[in-house]
Amino acid sequence: MGHKKMTRAEFIGAWKGVVIITLATIAGGHVLTTGMLFVIGFKDAALHYTLATLFPLILAPAAALPLLVMAGRLRLIKDELENLLRLDTLTELPNRRAFFEQAEVVFKRERAISLMMIDVDRFKQVNDNYGHDFGDRVLRSVAQSIQRIVAQTPGTGAKFAARIGGEEFAVLIEDLTPEAADRLADYLVEQIARLPVQGDGQLVSVTVSVGVAHRRTGNTPGTVLRVADNACYRAKRLGRNQWCDAAAIERPLPALTAA
Ligand code: GH3
Ligand code: MG
Ligand code: MG
Repeated sequence: MGHKKMTRAEFIGAWKGVVIITLATIAGGHVLTTGMLFVIGFKDAALHYTLATLFPLILAPAAALPLLVMAGRLRLIKDELENLLRLDTLTELPNRRAFFEQAEVVFKRERAISLMMIDVDRFKQVNDNYGHDFGDRVLRSVAQSIQRIVAQTPGTGAKFAARIGGEEFAVLIEDLTPEAADRLADYLVEQIARLPVQGDGQLVSVTVSVGVAHRRTGNTPGTVLRVADNACYRAKRLGRNQWCDAAAIERPLPALTAA
């Protein structure tokens, strides 16, 4: 884990700490020295003040600065660990935890949200045929492809992809019409099928099945993703290398009012 450099703000924070500790030590030093000099009957007030000010002024920053720098470092390490907790280290995409945390935030807004579940087809065979390391390379390529396509999707709403399981990825896009979400799913399926991954002297390609679901007011990320997952299974059953929109398989909602 590489150390990040302290930011300017953190250094200013550390120096503020040093100044406060120094002033507090000077005040404390004065009280102590006055007490001590009084006890031993020392009468030279000028020397008394000089000593009581000089010692803390030199000693306090020397003692406090390393401690405060260390505190700053610890804070950086804590931030870095928290980032790692939300990162899938194989693909460098956000992980499942990060996906749900970000999705919860987006779901608080009253906007259209589409979720996609992307599952690599027959991935076990890729591992069996070419080895686990090659499988990992395939996952990285698929992940990069998904991330690039999601990032390129027009619009200013939230959009992000994550690796939420072994060979499973999730995508959240805000402010897309259901038709636009379906077009995006179609593009993802098509682009990934064209993606060549370099194996031992050969190019291998994989396909994905994608399930698309749309948020209805009140739905949680978990429930919408489950609906997307069902749609993904449907795409698998229909032959894989394709997408399926949950809206196409949902039963129509019962009438809310009696006719
Ligand atoms: P389906 O088309 O039905 O999705 O078939 P599948 O083979 O993709 O599905 P299955 O769930 O049977 O297998 C998923 C495989 O993914 C099994 C597991 O070994 C592999 N896998 C999970 N995580 C990783 C990983 O991090 N690296 C590699 N190389 N393989 C992984
Ligand atoms: Mg799977
Ligand atoms: Mg699979």
